[in-house]
Amino acid sequence: MVRVDFNVPLDENFNITDNSRISAALPTINKLISDGAKVILMSHLGRPKGEEEKFSLKHIVNHLSELLNISVSFSENCIGEKTKREVKNLQNGEVLLLENLRFHPEEKKGDLKFSKQLSELADVYVNDAFGTAHRAHSSTAIIAQFFPNNKYFGLLLKNEIDSLEKALRDPKKPFTAIIGGAKISGKIDVITSLLNKVDNLIIGGGMAYTFAKAMGGNIGNSLVENDKVDLAKSIIKKAKEVGVNLLLPTDSVNADDFNSNANITNSKITNVPNGFMGLDIGEESIQLFSDVIQNSKTIIWNGPMGVFEMSDFEKGTKMIGEAICKSTENGAFSLIGGGDSVSAIKKFKMEDKVSYISTGGGAMLEYLEGKELPGVMAIQ
Ligand code: AMP
Repeated sequence: MVRVDFNVPLDENFNITDNSRISAALPTINKLISDGAKVILMSHLGRPKGEEEKFSLKHIVNHLSELLNISVSFSENCIGEKTKREVKNLQNGEVLLLENLRFHPEEKKGDLKFSKQLSELADVYVNDAFGTAHRAHSSTAIIAQFFPNNKYFGLLLKNEIDSLEKALRDPKKPFTAIIGGAKISGKIDVITSLLNKVDNLIIGGGMAYTFAKAMGGNIGNSLVENDKVDLAKSIIKKAKEVGVNLLLPTDSVNADDFNSNANITNSKITNVPNGFMGLDIGEESIQLFSDVIQNSKTIIWNGPMGVFEMSDFEKGTKMIGEAICKSTENGAFSLIGGGDSVSAIKKFKMEDKVSYISTGGGAMLEYLEGKELPGVMAIQ
């Protein structure tokens, strides 16, 4: 029984628009098939309220069958007598995908009885769902206790942890972390924790404007978290105290509206004109950040440098991606995670030029913060 993370995006016709999470689970599934196991796959998909058809994992079956090159069968539930019978009918080397675990609210509650019911389907439990490893849900953590001698990491989960360990435990120096994205609030803990580990900490994206405000700048209509201005000041102070080179953008690409027809200006980040909002880092910042990245030996990146989804504001993120690729080519170890940074890497076709792309956003951040992940602890 393998907990996979098949929480993939689907379009309105239920076509999978990005199958990376499914592809990432294939090595474990293929290994079990070739070893002659009867393979039961379980996952969640989206955030269903009850049994919503649009969140059914039946939409995944055909694609999974194609990828595995065998006919995958589907169970309309993940527990119960009918599912048990379907499991019993499985032959060695066959695969059965169970219906969305979150059709049962007990899954997210980490309910013990539900976990036991799931466990009764199998002899061996494998967790290969890094994307949900930071959750203490039934299928990701609680279930493991019913397999005291038969619980394992899948190949993907092992790879994810090994890559994070490589960056955190014994990083080759200089070690540079790049944190971007919309807001500081979701990333305070990781920023604080990284200050004890890295040589360089680069901050970009929307959160940089709160730092610019903390430095006394005028940031126009840029994204700002006024309640985090003091925190930004204390991060700047702490970086000085511990000798970390904190790099903030020095300049900014600004627009007078949040759309592609807006008027665009460039300015110092501390001097964004009134009526404009900063949506990307400017040329000077790109140069500054790229120089540091290209001299680094270990790089982790979470969060874009600007609104990369719009072509006028993609350059900062793209150029930082390019600097990471160059550095990787020269021998650095680079680890990218977080939904938006991974989308950016894909948009710019850089997937094969970085060392490792994580399938987990939240899980990666929590690991970097030094937290124990319930899904990992349950197996250890
Ligand atoms: P997060 O989920 O916190 O990593 O944020 C990712 C989102 O931040 C992306 O959708 C970006 O478009 C957005 N973002 C990046 N830079 C800015 C900015 N300067 N202003 C507003 N949004 C931004």
